[in-house]
Amino acid sequence: APAALLPVVGAGQSVPLVDGRSARYVHLDYAASAPALQAVADHVTAVLPAYASVHRGAGYLSQVSTRLLEQARGEIARSVGARDDDVVVLTRNTTDALTLLSTAVPGEVVVLDVEHHANLLPWQRGTARVVPAAGTLAATEAALAAELGRRPAALLAVTGASNVTGEVPPLARLAALAHAHGARIVVDAAQLVPHRGFDLAGLDVDYVAFSGHKLYAPFGAGALVGRPDWLDAAPPHQPGGGAVREVGTTATVWARSPERHEGGTPNVLGVAALAEACRVLAAVGFDRVREHEAVLHDRLVQGLRDRGIEPLRIWTDAPDVVGVVSFTVPGSTASQVAAFLSAEHGVGVRDGRFCAHPLLARLGASDGAVRASLGVGSSAADVDRLLDALDRLRADGPRWTYTSSGGSCRP
Ligand code: PMP
Repeated sequence: APAALLPVVGAGQSVPLVDGRSARYVHLDYAASAPALQAVADHVTAVLPAYASVHRGAGYLSQVSTRLLEQARGEIARSVGARDDDVVVLTRNTTDALTLLSTAVPGEVVVLDVEHHANLLPWQRGTARVVPAAGTLAATEAALAAELGRRPAALLAVTGASNVTGEVPPLARLAALAHAHGARIVVDAAQLVPHRGFDLAGLDVDYVAFSGHKLYAPFGAGALVGRPDWLDAAPPHQPGGGAVREVGTTATVWARSPERHEGGTPNVLGVAALAEACRVLAAVGFDRVREHEAVLHDRLVQGLRDRGIEPLRIWTDAPDVVGVVSFTVPGSTASQVAAFLSAEHGVGVRDGRFCAHPLLARLGASDGAVRASLGVGSSAADVDRLLDALDRLRADGPRWTYTSSGGSCRP
């Protein structure tokens, strides 16, 4: 049975249970935030002494810090298969990246109703044309084609991997579909990059957005990578120092992207961590990451099915699924299950509607579901702890009463 593929910080720590005992913490919430790779933590510690202002400092450490930031930008570009003329705009996270792009789109946006709110709400500030997903990808692609053909759209915005079901749509085909209708495509790859990496040039995708904290780096850094022209014409995302070429009292000449959108002092350590995570995963190889997670994913899905629980799915014909599994348990609410798992078994999952309200409604789970998600630090023992806990829930019921999710409980 597989152990963890790579060491992550905090692995093996003990957490208190509701009855006063303690247990090894089982982190099955990688889709929300993945623990940092140990290699990333080591890298951050190693570069921390070069703590000096970037871009404008003349001192030696400022030069080191600036080089660190720009080398990280280059590493991020390489790791997502950026073309030579693509830009990497450093953002806070995926939400920030997609919000920036939404201010740069010169027209309407077509989007499915299966998206995380981060890939829905920014477009709703302009004109978003939301297409209901069908039960198969083939029918969903036909619906997208019809909508793109009905009236010109500037952009098709799609998920790279669903944060609820883990399903991966055929991105190269969707890119070709958008381009055939004169639109560009952006992929919300927050859930895809940690499991499969990305290849902008290979998929012929125009923009990709993702977050460091789901990619084994700490919170606070993300990126938007893609074509520069719309971004160069857009209003500056963070007007301020560094975003300008020349400021007068009445007129200002803005810099081009990425600087145009990166006013203020950047999150150098967060970006360095994100780039190091990209580097380490690429060195290990996404084939190995995929293989590791596929074994655990199969074990989890089969284990749930053996217990009469069927994971939620949008499509019957998804070509690929990452290690994200959502489900409901008959006889218990999702928040009761999640609180039980945490309080009585030390198993950390997420419950609720996962910032994807329209999708949960489509899947008939408007009351919420439980989500278990895997990563390179996951092991077969972690999956088995969840399955054993579900057996206990079924056999004995919860021993405590849970008043809300997250472990708030009383005897
Ligand atoms: N898109 C997807 C598919 C996600 O899963 C998430 C995070 N749950 C986001 C976007 C938003 O990421 P962030 O919170 O890092 O902005």
